[in-house]
Amino acid sequence: MQLSKHNILTPIRGDRRWLIANLLSGQADVLEPELGEQLSRGEVVQAEELAAKGYLVDPAEELRRYRAAYLDFVESRETDEVQLFYVPSYACNFACSYCFQDEYAPPPGDQGEEVLGAFFRYVDDNFADRRKYVTLFGGEPLLPSPAYRRIVDAIIDGTRDRGLDLAIVTNAYNLASYVPTLTRGLIREIQITLDGPQKIHDGRRYLKGGGETFGRVVEGVDAALGANLAVNLRTVLDKENVRAFGELAHFAIDRGWTKHPKFKTQIGRNYELHHCQADRGKLHSRLSLFEELHALVEADPAILEFHQPAFSVAKFLFEHGELPSPLFDSCPACKTEWAFDYTGSIYPCTATVGKQGEALGTFWPEVKLDRSLVEPWEERDVVVMESCASCPQQLACGGGCGAVAKNNAGHVHSPDCRPVAELLSLGTSLYGKDALAG
Ligand code: SF4
Ligand code: SF4
Repeated sequence: MQLSKHNILTPIRGDRRWLIANLLSGQADVLEPELGEQLSRGEVVQAEELAAKGYLVDPAEELRRYRAAYLDFVESRETDEVQLFYVPSYACNFACSYCFQDEYAPPPGDQGEEVLGAFFRYVDDNFADRRKYVTLFGGEPLLPSPAYRRIVDAIIDGTRDRGLDLAIVTNAYNLASYVPTLTRGLIREIQITLDGPQKIHDGRRYLKGGGETFGRVVEGVDAALGANLAVNLRTVLDKENVRAFGELAHFAIDRGWTKHPKFKTQIGRNYELHHCQADRGKLHSRLSLFEELHALVEADPAILEFHQPAFSVAKFLFEHGELPSPLFDSCPACKTEWAFDYTGSIYPCTATVGKQGEALGTFWPEVKLDRSLVEPWEERDVVVMESCASCPQQLACGGGCGAVAKNNAGHVHSPDCRPVAELLSLGTSLYGKDALAG
């Protein structure tokens, strides 16, 4: 018997004990300090319990289980829902300090409705037997002019006629005025970015030419929730605003948002994906951001009413009492995610949409997809990527983001590593208090 290739071992933050988690066997345990240290040194401790839980294995038998789990993963992904992004324009009324799209071209003439019609025909022809939904994305898709309103109307009709849900990603400046229109659609959720309390938000997300936006965004959230539309409030965090996250949480709690059944939150990390940030020094690494969040929540646990950071699989583990299924691939691009824009181009996903050199083909004026460009995205997973195949945390990480990997290494089949063990350590100390006390 040998130690499993899939044991993730980490000392628990603020505790002398260790956590062991194995996504292939689906087991996780708190270990006494001595045993944790022994296993972390690679010492094979022959113990029945370790073998029963798949921490100690016959390598050939483990490989069989790995292959079977991989086949299950690929099969179940084939029936997963596909998310189809549509960008009617990259124009935006905001000039956010960190916007990655600020270098993209402005919209062309007035073929908007023709191209949108071609998008729906492409969806009908190519995703007929898949579960799917559409996400309206930008730029800012909810601009006030009649031309933008006509496109939003047409997207609402096109999705509703097909029985498809529609999600919207918006800065929410004009959301309140769009709410009556949106209630005609099958709206799955509206994703809105709010980067902090008023002063912080307005210092980062201002109108082109200057001007505050916080009040209008808050009004938009109120209007959407008031119409019972689901809101996913996103906060993009970096060193400039992370310390104000608690203040934002209390603002949302006091306004009654967190009590609304259709209100949820997510955090995004501001990172250097597309082009130089004006000030890279203000960016957090994935780990340092979660270190900050951990400290904030320890000092003010009420923040958890607003947002519960995932800390890799830690939140899932302590919420469900079990680990999630093995994640052989965390990048949905060209598998369960595609992006389309008003120029008629097709892209792998939102992180690549509109970016020069990333288009895979066109759906307008003619349909053509370059399979040689699609295949590297389709094939990308932890089995294909050499460094991932030997990584103990592969089934929690899934290889990270293909766009970030390509940006860093020049090709899609390279890893975008996640600090899984460190995040699990932080998350266990936060969410595993009962398990640690028991
Ligand atoms: S490339 Fe990155 S952003 Fe795009 S789908 Fe993959 S993980 Fe998501
Ligand atoms: S991306 Fe890095 S951390 Fe993730 S599985 Fe691959 S090698 Fe491991």
